[in-house]
Amino acid sequence: MRRTLRLVPVLMMAAVLTGSNPPPQAPPIRLAVVVVVDQLRADLLDRYDDLFTGGFRRLRDRGFRFAEATQDHAWTETAPGHAAIATGTIPAHNGIVLNDFAYRDGDRLRSMYSFADSASPILGLADSPGRSPVNMRRPSFAEWLVAHEPRARIATVSRKDRGAIPLAGHTRATALWMDIEAGRFVTSRYYASAYPPWVDDFNARVLPALYADSAWVLRVPPGAVARARRDSADYESGGKDVTFPHKASERGRISYNAWVAKTPVPDIATLALAHRMTEELRLGREGHIDFLGISLSQTDAIGHAWGPLSLEQLDNLLRLDRALGELMDWLDEYVGRDQWMLALSADHGVMTAPEYLAEQGTDAHRLTVEDSRAQRAILNRLSRSSDAATRAAAVADLERLPFVADVVTLDELRGTAAAADSFIRLFRNSYLPDRGTGSLLSTGLVVRNRENTIVAGAEASTHGSAYYYDRHVPLIFMGPSIPAGVSGEPARTVDLAPTLAALLGVPAPAGLDGVSLTRVLRR
Ligand SMILES: [Zn+2]
Ligand SMILES: [Zn+2]
Repeated sequence: MRRTLRLVPVLMMAAVLTGSNPPPQAPPIRLAVVVVVDQLRADLLDRYDDLFTGGFRRLRDRGFRFAEATQDHAWTETAPGHAAIATGTIPAHNGIVLNDFAYRDGDRLRSMYSFADSASPILGLADSPGRSPVNMRRPSFAEWLVAHEPRARIATVSRKDRGAIPLAGHTRATALWMDIEAGRFVTSRYYASAYPPWVDDFNARVLPALYADSAWVLRVPPGAVARARRDSADYESGGKDVTFPHKASERGRISYNAWVAKTPVPDIATLALAHRMTEELRLGREGHIDFLGISLSQTDAIGHAWGPLSLEQLDNLLRLDRALGELMDWLDEYVGRDQWMLALSADHGVMTAPEYLAEQGTDAHRLTVEDSRAQRAILNRLSRSSDAATRAAAVADLERLPFVADVVTLDELRGTAAAADSFIRLFRNSYLPDRGTGSLLSTGLVVRNRENTIVAGAEASTHGSAYYYDRHVPLIFMGPSIPAGVSGEPARTVDLAPTLAALLGVPAPAGLDGVSLTRVLRR
């Protein structure tokens, strides 16, 4: 009785408030877009901020961004980065710990590609290995959306299968990625039994037109060229093809399609196909909410070959800025201004080329082949021995290598006590007993090399470490209910999916590692 008496006035007041003062009815969101830009380290958007006029400009002016967002795991590769964004969970929970993970098969160690599935052949390419999300053990945002709105259409596209598949998750999505050698967009039996005619048409007519240019010519405005590192350096691209213009004819024996794969063109094709699939599937036009997932791979290809601060990467980012801006302008017309929402992040960052860091006075190293061989020899000794004294001596040898910072043991990875340092916490987030690096599974150890160290190779730079430069990524939300702004609060890529879900009123499953950041967005 007392409860009723207290409740009635509150309910009446609520009725009066909503009755007399109805909130302005915002049009509902009809399309959720997630964009993952491969290897886009967050500081690159700051560095070139004033040069952007397209999609990055709009995101920075109208979006809300988390300036200190990171991937919250140690092995910063493409597959784990995308799976963390898509599922809101860390690799230790979603199973995608590496691009290629080792696993035990009886006494033997075998390697498995994270999105390999022999039961899901590529349609039309019988000799290509099958692909699906069966190794991903958690549902993606696309699945949460379909559970909430069964009519939702799911479409994802990327140059890489490990970009398109985690975003599509275990849904009946239109998921398309590129077979580089075949030079066309494909899918697997997991997602479809045949290609829709418009995919065949895109592959037969549109892609060849986009692929026709056999030179990559600099388009950076002359006044902005000096903003990048100088155009040629002998650590770029294995010392070959280091300056603009980049011509197909100068890349020796690699195929034309493999040459194009190191230019901005595949991202332009990916965005053109995103446009086409939005129209063909009428995404955002059927009175309910749909999902478009786009993963853009060329920042990664170009960053590996020429380095993140190269003129090549600046040229690529400016082209991407323009193409993203065109897609956004078109979505305003097709779906309706204020009727779509976008979240953008990256699967990982990258290390700046060590030679350039050294020029700038930072202690940085590219390991020699001999360095790597010495490290491997000790690890081989460890993998063959279970004798405690032999192992202790080998670990001491590892720690004496000048480029090794720490050797992490299985006890530290499995421990539940507070991690001794933040790296161990990151390694725990990447750790699964049955999937890991070959060296972890065979030796029970993870070797952390020193900061700003990369292994020998023909690439200008790479990623994959637990250091900040490999984990620091953009995290930007943009949509009608989201104020423009910047927050320095720590945020993680596993927060992207729960935040988007909260903004859209889509229920998120239990057991996520990420949290909704809407309390920060709405402040
Ligand atoms: Zn990547
Ligand atoms: Zn990469």
